[in-house]
Amino acid sequence: MGKAQETVLEINLKALKHNFEYLKSSINTSTKFLAVVKAFAYGSDAVEIAKYLEKLGVDYFAVAYVSEGILLREAGVKTPILVLHPQKINLSKLIKYNLEPSLYSPYILKAFIATVENHTVTDYPVHIKFNTGLNRLGFWENDIDYIIDKLKGTSKLKVISIFSHLAASEDHNEKEFTLNQIDTFKKIAAEFKAKTGYQPMMHQLNTSGIINYPEAQFDMVRSGIGLYGFGNDALVDSKLIPVMTLKTVISQIHMIEPGESVGYNRSFKAPRYAKIATLPLGHADGIGRQYGNEKGYVTIHGKKAPIVGNVCMDMLMVNIWGIDCKEGDEVIIFGEHPTANEFASSAKTISYELLTAISQRVKRIFIS
Ligand SMILES: *Cc1c(COP(=O)(O)O)cnc(C)c1O
Repeated sequence: MGKAQETVLEINLKALKHNFEYLKSSINTSTKFLAVVKAFAYGSDAVEIAKYLEKLGVDYFAVAYVSEGILLREAGVKTPILVLHPQKINLSKLIKYNLEPSLYSPYILKAFIATVENHTVTDYPVHIKFNTGLNRLGFWENDIDYIIDKLKGTSKLKVISIFSHLAASEDHNEKEFTLNQIDTFKKIAAEFKAKTGYQPMMHQLNTSGIINYPEAQFDMVRSGIGLYGFGNDALVDSKLIPVMTLKTVISQIHMIEPGESVGYNRSFKAPRYAKIATLPLGHADGIGRQYGNEKGYVTIHGKKAPIVGNVCMDMLMVNIWGIDCKEGDEVIIFGEHPTANEFASSAKTISYELLTAISQRVKRIFIS
């Protein structure tokens, strides 16, 4: 890949393939693989990522919202798409684009039944979400009779899967809690089967779940962050390859005298002579103010340059004292080193937040 000449997010499809194959190799061959491509495929590019994964033979996709599913359908994606968090107002559209809803509450279940009754469909695929401890979305264990009763009132739905989500699959201190979630989910599935006479697919694991609780893979697993190169665990990270690299260039270099300041509110004051480089990316590109004032650093010719002063909307400044560099030279924000995870940690956040914040203004470049 050529050197960056502006701010670009490089998306390495070979790395994606590697991560997909690594994750697939850690589950049974009979277990289906759902790729989570919500939030522009974790800040990369939902369409390119989904089309590539479709070619690799992924079984299912998940997005958070209906609009994200429509984007994929309009791009020609044919694989089933689970919408994790549909809203009532979008249910007709969801059906029009052949998206599969997660039904997570009496409110959304009733709304979906009312909507589907106005459409000429049969066996419309739906997924029932149960809350087993995350306390975010989902029916409670004791809602099963209610759900079955509602389902009996319509012949137009087919429950393809029942699923749940773990609250702390990456946290070994919460093992007991997690095992309890898995146990609760099994009980729910057994009761559902006993009362309806059939067994939909079951799924509960995200990326860290695949790694730490493979015994609970059931019929399908749902992986997001792992596909993009992170496993919430140093050992797993060493087996995965970061898909995204954020690069930019040096726009301008300033020599600063002792006592002079840099940036808004003069929050950096040079204690001695300083060489400062201005870079063409800022909080509007997804590098938030929390990285400013020497929390985060970028890499120039393999050397660390701390971010100084407040991050601006379109620019940030770095201290390049002792680094042999000039205007037009390439700068790495994150990628192989530091990784997005390491860069995120510098501001006490996580790879998920950093990656999904990279704004649509940043040009995407694909490497295959
Ligand atoms: C986002 C999400 C996932 C993916 O989690 P990762 O930790 O990125 O693998 C899986 N399931 C649900 C319900 C989600 O919301």
